[in-house]
Amino acid sequence: MNSRRDFLQKIGVSALGLSILPGYIQSNRAIYDPFEEGPLLRVAIMGLGGYGTRVAEAMQSCTKAKLVGVISGTPSKIKAWQARYNIPPKNCYNYGNFDEIKNNPDIDAVYVITPNGLHHDEVIRVAQAGKHVICEKPMALNAQQAQEMIDACKRANVRLLVGYRMHFEPHTLEIIRMRKAGEFGKIMFFQGLSGFIIGDPNQWRLNKELSGGGAMMDIGIYSVNGSRYMTGEEPIWVTAEETKTDPVKFKEGIDETIQFQFGFPSGAVASCLSTYSMNFLDRFFLNGLDGFAELDPATGYGPIRGRTNKGELNQPAVIHQTVQMDEMSDMILKGKQPIVPVDGEEALKDLKIIDAIYEAVKTGKRMEIKK
Ligand code: NAD
Repeated sequence: MNSRRDFLQKIGVSALGLSILPGYIQSNRAIYDPFEEGPLLRVAIMGLGGYGTRVAEAMQSCTKAKLVGVISGTPSKIKAWQARYNIPPKNCYNYGNFDEIKNNPDIDAVYVITPNGLHHDEVIRVAQAGKHVICEKPMALNAQQAQEMIDACKRANVRLLVGYRMHFEPHTLEIIRMRKAGEFGKIMFFQGLSGFIIGDPNQWRLNKELSGGGAMMDIGIYSVNGSRYMTGEEPIWVTAEETKTDPVKFKEGIDETIQFQFGFPSGAVASCLSTYSMNFLDRFFLNGLDGFAELDPATGYGPIRGRTNKGELNQPAVIHQTVQMDEMSDMILKGKQPIVPVDGEEALKDLKIIDAIYEAVKTGKRMEIKK
């Protein structure tokens, strides 16, 4: 395994040179000590598209994880990534031969960043190759697939983590801390607004087989997941209504806009909106008997902004994917427990809820959410 000393030598800094470290490290000096020695998680990225590229760039600032391999169906992309990230030929795979990664001792984990509909089979193949898996959200198309992925990883004795980057975001974690400390009093209400106007009508996000649905699978999931970590409760029922203004762009099975409501065991309720037809919608609002918290933007790439009844939050702005990968390294290699879970079971909970939302849309009835 490589050490963080190698990293520091690579970027050419000494203890005295801390002031020239990337912003991520400067802003996180209190949390992440770049001089602490420890193992590095060696990661191969599968799917070299938009988000894969963002993760790769963010990983250049990681001190506990390193991009060492790629899996792609496009030879020209592999070449470009090899040159940019110094990836040796022996760590390059395609979708036909990546099972051979089991014979590669220089890769610890594979980060699956392909279209949603491919996650199930790819995660199971990676697990069967004996490597830890990090999978993008939504982890699967439904709860049944999610359960099969969890089972496969358990059988193979590998970790399954999901790219819930907000679970490591400082403003989000501060609100969770305040809520747990009782600073907002009894939680009564959560509002989640998640949406953007989607462009190209021919992209995989609007193809049911590859996406599993529309805005709900892609962006609405942030309000589903957020309603859980903001309130600290699991919803027990859901009602939902779908509306469509463009049935040509948003075909059968591709939801454009869904409004959904949750009930929680404490009596708290949530009201959320998921849409592919409105911009400027990335807002969480939590209301308790003694206070409130607001995140706006709540889940974008940052900077995240937050305030509570006590005033503005002033947590550091971080590169989400850098922090996520360093934290996941500690989880996989050192057994660290995150404040908010990011494992397959966490994704299964979201997918059970999303299954129930779609069922509520279909039946027009209030649906109980299965445990
Ligand atoms: P993208 O279209 O930019 O990239 C997808 C990649 O998968 C491309 O490189 C493409 O070549 C490859 N691919 C492999 N097989 C394919 C196939 N059969 N059809 C189409 N493409 C195929 O998409 P993206 O935005 O990078 O999204 C990938 C995953 O990452 C999705 O699950 C998405 O939900 C997730 N994502 C997460 C975040 C986040 O903030 N956590 C942000 C964006 C995307």
